[in-house]
Amino acid sequence: MNKKFAIAVHGGAGTISRKLMTPELEKKYKDGLSEAVDSGFSILETGGSALLAVEAAVRSLENDIHFNAGRGSVFTHEGKNEMDASIMDGKTLMAGAVTGVRNVRNPIILARTIMQSKEQVFVGGKGAEDFAREHRLHFEDDKYFYSQFRYDQWQKVKDSEAQHMDHNVDVELGTVGAVAVDKEGNVAAATSTGGMTNKRFGRIGDTPIIGSGTYANNQTCAVSCTGHGEYFIRLVTAYDVSCLMEYKGMSLKEACEFAIMKKMKDVGGEGGLIAVDANANMELVFNCSGMYRSWHAEGEEPVVKIYK
Ligand code: ASP
Repeated sequence: MNKKFAIAVHGGAGTISRKLMTPELEKKYKDGLSEAVDSGFSILETGGSALLAVEAAVRSLENDIHFNAGRGSVFTHEGKNEMDASIMDGKTLMAGAVTGVRNVRNPIILARTIMQSKEQVFVGGKGAEDFAREHRLHFEDDKYFYSQFRYDQWQKVKDSEAQHMDHNVDVELGTVGAVAVDKEGNVAAATSTGGMTNKRFGRIGDTPIIGSGTYANNQTCAVSCTGHGEYFIRLVTAYDVSCLMEYKGMSLKEACEFAIMKKMKDVGGEGGLIAVDANANMELVFNCSGMYRSWHAEGEEPVVKIYK
């Protein structure tokens, strides 16, 4: 018998100022989130896998200039766009991840291709770009990744030492991610980002780190995180949610709330996560003012939200 299927996406969490948000901008973000959820949902509806659904949803957000991933990636301290992404299949525990790549149109496709190559899990920088070329993935020139608002964000902070979560510099968005469960009860997770504005020294956040920013296991759940990556790395948050379920017997809701509202808060970390289990329970939890998010479960209406 077919199981209930569902998908959730996020477009970043942080201090999202209502003062800086215009109705036009809000519509653009919500449209982008809806499009991403729809692209994944239609795959699940026709019997496609959770893995394909999360890849499609994240790809859609990477192609939308309003989100900090792919095309809309923030600028590094050197004025470049360097992207991270990862994907994991909860059925096989196979995973693929990529860090610090430039000019690759869709880092999430690269992460999935790395996963399928079965040779490596985590590939970085120039080597990852060579891999992408060998597999004939799509490249874009620097112009494709340029937008005036990202450039202006970077100009405001570039002479400082600080790196900023994208949405905290201005109203713009952070990392993107998706989690899904398909008709067979398989779960998957995918996450993609341009990282933090003004990042330097080859800084890597949680997004491409399996277990920190992304994790999926049919026995527990699929998780995609967003927020101040350094904290998510230290707390190994995505895997922690899975462990809280596996070893402590917590429900999905209990595990997500403990990880974000208690453990993350206790160390002063800001952010959130989305998660789904094999029974199509979904959680979208954050400890800051907002998280761009949308979800759609079989037999229910899709929902799009920004604030609490
Ligand atoms: N987690 C991402 C990073 O630290 C940023 C974000 O989610 O906004 O690179």
